[in-house]
Amino acid sequence: MRIIYFDICAMVLALTVFVFLVTRRYTKGRTNRLILMLAVLIILSGLLDVYDSLYGTYVKQLPSNAPVQFVSNTLFYLIRNFTTPAYLLFLYSYFGVWHLLKNRGVHFWITVIPYAVVALSMLVNCFNHKVFYIDPEGVYHRGPYIIVIYVVALVYFAVILWITVRYRKTVRRSEFVMLLSFVVFNMTAVISQRINPGMRVEVLALALTIFMTATAIQRPEEVVDGVVGTLSQNGFFTDMRRAYGVGRPTNLLLIKITNHRALRLNLGLEIYNSALQRTGAKFVQMGKIINLYTDVYYNGRGVFAIVTEADKYEQTLDMGRLIVAYMQESFTIANLEIRLDAKICLARTPYDLQSYSSLMSFSNSFHRTIPDMDKVVLLSDILDSKDYRMKSEIDNIIKRGIEEKRFRMFYQPIYSVADDKFVSGEALIRLFDEEYGYVSPGLFIPAAENSGAIHDIGDFVLEDVIKFIRRGDFAGSGLEYIEINLSVAQCIEPGLTDKIKGLTDKYNVKPSQVNLELTETAADYDPKITDENIFRLWNMGFKFSLDDYGTGYSNIKRVVSLPFDIVKFDKSFVDEMDDPKMWIAIVNTVNMLKRMNKKILVEGVENKRTLDRFIDLGCDYIQGFYFSKPLEQADFIKFVNEHNSGRASKT
Ligand code: C2E
Ligand code: MG
Ligand code: MG
Repeated sequence: MRIIYFDICAMVLALTVFVFLVTRRYTKGRTNRLILMLAVLIILSGLLDVYDSLYGTYVKQLPSNAPVQFVSNTLFYLIRNFTTPAYLLFLYSYFGVWHLLKNRGVHFWITVIPYAVVALSMLVNCFNHKVFYIDPEGVYHRGPYIIVIYVVALVYFAVILWITVRYRKTVRRSEFVMLLSFVVFNMTAVISQRINPGMRVEVLALALTIFMTATAIQRPEEVVDGVVGTLSQNGFFTDMRRAYGVGRPTNLLLIKITNHRALRLNLGLEIYNSALQRTGAKFVQMGKIINLYTDVYYNGRGVFAIVTEADKYEQTLDMGRLIVAYMQESFTIANLEIRLDAKICLARTPYDLQSYSSLMSFSNSFHRTIPDMDKVVLLSDILDSKDYRMKSEIDNIIKRGIEEKRFRMFYQPIYSVADDKFVSGEALIRLFDEEYGYVSPGLFIPAAENSGAIHDIGDFVLEDVIKFIRRGDFAGSGLEYIEINLSVAQCIEPGLTDKIKGLTDKYNVKPSQVNLELTETAADYDPKITDENIFRLWNMGFKFSLDDYGTGYSNIKRVVSLPFDIVKFDKSFVDEMDDPKMWIAIVNTVNMLKRMNKKILVEGVENKRTLDRFIDLGCDYIQGFYFSKPLEQADFIKFVNEHNSGRASKT
């Protein structure tokens, strides 16, 4: 009776693995599913082995139930021997070389043929009883062909050993050592059971292997995202590192939910997470509908990645199109209507992204480098475009710009309605790169804010502009002050006040000649340090403008509480002024701000009609292409001199 103890242990272990994986919902992804399948196979093998052992295989049965035992033993052989190729499949999946099985090459055949031999010998055994037989008294006996089963087992071990050693580079050293020890361990079990059939340890050895794999190596928590329920970012990077490591090509769909931050703020974490969960589940479901094997990952910050097999490019593109359609529909959770905005890109690795590190950086920033489109962007289409190369090279371009001192300040004249002349100008930075030519600040300022380069750039801007104010021709032109853009990141520099004051002192410039422009996001950033900086500077005599008013959340409380002298209407106000409702908003905003004693500057005025409308409304300053584009220092001074000496206004 003792012989069944090993099987019972094996079943308990396999059941533990099964419950462990299912209760934690680690049932996604091929590797996890193969482990689940192995657990089920082990439980079935154990059950059949226990049944055979208890019902007479080794014990005489009266009356004999030989035919039933024959069937159950055959089933046992079929299932038990399937566990080894199943483990081999698991390894192919785990090492990320599943594709090797697909093209009916050597990997496919070495996986299939040995098992086919087992199946065939079971079939033949029905007629000649040479693998095993059950005697009339119900006792099990091995036949001479049993050797075939053992040869097959040894062949599989050899293949498993070969695969483990061959692809060891795709896993950590400790994992490799463990996987290798499994081979040795299982082989020992098979041999000892061959020598002593009463020692039924084969199934137990395999059960121990998958138990260790599921708990120690597999670490499903590392590859499944606990919140979204898809595979995780960690899993994504691990799997892709393996794919690159073994040269396995893939199709990669990257989806960035561009409004994810706003959604999280507006919906609250719980509903936001449900929306992500729903979206992840939808992606998995879409793959099933179009019969496409997909690995769906959530990489955090609103980014999903879907990996498919290389030969399924067309289907993957179809899936991308389905996702575009999904993104255009809204859905409701807890009575809230939710709409996701997304950017979707399809890449072929390793062709479009040649190395693992280029994949890593691309997957983090692709939403900034690909164009805005309501369709799937094919990376191969845009790779060679100048725009894409510039965007993906932006950090290097900035670095080069700083090292080679390629930044220049331009100035856009600002017209004062009350004075009927140009009283100021906005300093706007320009970068001319040797390779790419003009690079827009709209592109490099946000990138520099991300990388931290903004501090160096900001320092250059402050010094260059303050130096300019000091120049004799500036004073002679009648200009009163210059507006300087301050970035979010600069506002929270603790030393900002001393830095700016130090510069005005150094160049003997009055604080009132400097007007600092902040955006609403800046004002919202880290209120404590930002406020301290603003108030200290304001008390020293520097002035402030609120830039891009109308594009952010229009935090009235902060507009009121911070000492902004000027509020700059964003160009989007101007663009929409012909919309009657927008005009009502503009008129009332002007009234409100005037009653708060704020001056109003209108940006982006490009024609006379706009100019007249905003002047009639009582706005104080006008800036825009109607008067002039941003100009180089000398041209700017020339422009102001010429216009201020004659009739400034073109009205
Ligand atoms: P901003 O501060 O709102 O600057 C106004 C932008 O509108 C400038 O774009 C200007 O050239 C453009 N503009 C002015 N009038 C018109 C017009 O009539 N029509 C049109 N279509 N555009 C007009 P630019 O120079 O490309 O700068 C873009 C943004 O980059 C700036 O927006 C600002 O946020 C940032 N930036 C520029 N220079 C600096 C800088 O020195 N430091 C920092 N931190 N940010 C800067
Ligand atoms: Mg500005
Ligand atoms: Mg602006």
